Amino acid sequence: TEACLKTIEDAGTLNAFVHHTPEIALDQAKAADARIAAGNAPDMCGIPLGIKDLFCTKGVPSQAGSAILSGFRPEYESTITLQLWDSGSIMLGKLNMDEFAMGSSNETSTYGNVVNPWRRGNDDAALTPGGSSGGSASAVAADLCLAATGTDTGGSIRQPAAFVGITGIKPTYGRCSRWGVVAFASSLDQAGPMTKSVRDAAIMLAAMSGHDPKDSTSADLAVPDFEAALTGDIRGKKIGIPKEYRMDGMPDEIEKLWADGTAMLRDAGAEIVDISLPHTKYALPAYYVIAPAEASSNLARYDGVRYGHRAKLAKGEGIDDMYEKTRAEGFGPEVQRRVMIGTYVLSAGFYDAYYRRAQRVRTLIKKDFENVFDAGIEAILTPATPSAAFGLGEMADADPVQMYLNDVFTVTVNLAGLPGIAVPAGLDKQGLPLGLQLIGRPWEEGDLLNSAYVLE
Ligand code: GLN
Repeated sequence: TEACLKTIEDAGTLNAFVHHTPEIALDQAKAADARIAAGNAPDMCGIPLGIKDLFCTKGVPSQAGSAILSGFRPEYESTITLQLWDSGSIMLGKLNMDEFAMGSSNETSTYGNVVNPWRRGNDDAALTPGGSSGGSASAVAADLCLAATGTDTGGSIRQPAAFVGITGIKPTYGRCSRWGVVAFASSLDQAGPMTKSVRDAAIMLAAMSGHDPKDSTSADLAVPDFEAALTGDIRGKKIGIPKEYRMDGMPDEIEKLWADGTAMLRDAGAEIVDISLPHTKYALPAYYVIAPAEASSNLARYDGVRYGHRAKLAKGEGIDDMYEKTRAEGFGPEVQRRVMIGTYVLSAGFYDAYYRRAQRVRTLIKKDFENVFDAGIEAILTPATPSAAFGLGEMADADPVQMYLNDVFTVTVNLAGLPGIAVPAGLDKQGLPLGLQLIGRPWEEGDLLNSAYVLE
């Protein structure tokens, strides 16, 4: 813990941590020492972690990367962080993220962008660590913490993990409690660990999982021993390669990465099967209707009355002015764009044309996966992202749809509620990390982690 606190101090330029909690960390570390000395400490005991700013941590600033929550210190602890502290883990502080987890580059944060510790060849230009869990990714990659929590609504654990060369798993929807995690799109949001290895991911995921009566979508299922599933034996396992993920204009190095990953799984004894997920191309448009729709509803609570920022009113201005000014001042442009899209697609005249249609597409996407799983496929291999990390500012200034394309391989998994993992799988020509994604059957995270273990 002391070593991490020191490294964090020295690494301010990454802008990964937005709030440090050294006192809490040192207290927790002492308690962890005592548990370890007593001889029955859980696996996570004494492990220093960074916590994404989306998690409510009692008495500690929790702003979801947004100015609208400035000054907000929750009265309560999220279920996941509570479980982590109970397991003896240590909180080093809160990690930077895109505002309300909306973004793929961590450039929408009120705290400013995060810097990826990697560089392109000899080029000094700073790169994005991806988003929205950009602070988590950068902090783990730069050894500021041993692991971090992330959240993934459309790819926000897997894409940043791939951009910095670490492992990140989004569990099955309902595996980890959403209670006390600031909501973005509630039917898609899942938290998960971002770690240095698949084994770490298995151990940390177990500590984060479990039924929580406070989250009505939390599954009442026992948590398997994910670490015990890491046998490295995938002989006879059927792994699908979906043809629809071979996008036009896919860079050669992503093609090669995918082919190399396929060969590794085959060499380990897996049976590689070509599969089709025919509705894949509709996933991104459906996601960018459903996610903003849910976000516009979830973000209605930030009205200047209950939390954080409240605009100052001029004489004669009333409560409607207060709402309007507070939201105009507190939300950044990407969040405002999502609220407007979401409100539009949910409005009476457009609900059927957009929202209902997107929900139907979502069902078809889920069915695509069910069909291949019913046919015996146990995991699906795809690239994690369409490119390696890009330069800061490179996409932020472009059309927002360009940024949304980052999620092309990951959003299907959220729409279908499946577990998905990104593992580092090599470097591109400029020396930047690239990741592969494995998608698993619902509730089979152990099995999924085991396949990822073979690729690691
Ligand atoms: N990049 C996607 C978005 O902006 C996904 C974000 C996430 O998973 N939280 O919506």
